[in-house]
Amino acid sequence: MTGSDGAADPGGSWPLPREPLPLETNRPGVFAAGDVRCGSVKRCAAAIGEGSMAVALVHRGWRRRAVTEPPAVASPDAAASPEFAELASDERIATAAAALERNGIRPLRAATGADARGLVRSLLTGGAEVYNNTSQTLEAIGVADDIERSGRYQPLRLRLYRMDREMQRREMRTLAASPDYVVGSVHALTEGGSLLIVSASGSQLGPLASGAARVILIIGAQKIVPDVATGMRRIYEYCYPLEDARARRAYGVPSGVNNILVSNKAVTPGRVTAIIVNERLGF
Ligand SMILES: Cc1cc2nc3c(=O)[nH]c(=O)nc-3n(C[C@H](O)[C@H](O)[C@H](O)COP(=O)(O)OP(=O)(O)OC[C@H]3O[C@@H](n4cnc5c(N)ncnc54)[C@H](O)[C@@H]3O)c2cc1C
Repeated sequence: MTGSDGAADPGGSWPLPREPLPLETNRPGVFAAGDVRCGSVKRCAAAIGEGSMAVALVHRGWRRRAVTEPPAVASPDAAASPEFAELASDERIATAAAALERNGIRPLRAATGADARGLVRSLLTGGAEVYNNTSQTLEAIGVADDIERSGRYQPLRLRLYRMDREMQRREMRTLAASPDYVVGSVHALTEGGSLLIVSASGSQLGPLASGAARVILIIGAQKIVPDVATGMRRIYEYCYPLEDARARRAYGVPSGVNNILVSNKAVTPGRVTAIIVNERLGF
């Protein structure tokens, strides 16, 4: 059985919460056309028409699956897919930077992590309240250290650590929601200038999307991908296994692809700056 017939099957064999596509069988992603399909009219023309329809539906299914459903291989135990660790060429970096600019995000380029660190210093105003997201990139190039220990800023992360989670829960939530600056990274940057950021708790996504007055993102050039669908794959097949292993080591708990922010455009001019670094930084 296919499509709505399959969904209405009294045996309840359709396994997903979404409706099946028209010729999709109860094995999601497998389509049936022609005589083999339950209820078909057993005619050549119908078989040919359904066959071409099935091809189009397969493509539609791929696109939808890539964006909204975790791939079957998403597992913390899967080996991180090495294709996502390769640095993008200079040409692809330039393409992504130009696209960011078109999308209202100020692109800066840095040859090294040390150069990126210098750029962040030049962008942050002394005395400002700065919230650095948990990020391997910020740790690796010393930006986390600058924010938390240089004495030049008010490091919000340290302030939150010192507060009482039970007694000051509301105050902590309010503080974390609207810092002067949030400094972090992303998990994928597309050649079309979209930014993808994943979070197990979701806590950093609100400030990045709109709460913080200004946002500075530092992006290793291995994070550039052709499009949003590939960015999603990068999250599930590369970032997730590595982050899960890190979370288990650091906090003794698993991670999860629980919240994903896809930012296609910044509406407030000058609010978001993205520094693309010609080095492999973070994951
Ligand atoms: C005698 C007869 C007369 C007909 N007259 C007309 C007519 O005048 N007009 C009309 O429109 N329709 C007619 N039909 C119907 C028409 O032939 C079918 O509707 C049409 O061929 C269906 O196409 P299909 O690709 O779905 O299946 P099929 O044409 O049956 O093709 C299925 C193919 O899959 C192969 N196959 C099966 N199992 C496997 C497997 N496990 N691995 C790999 N390959 C496999 C089969 O060998 C076959 O080649 C007639 C049918 C018959 C039997």
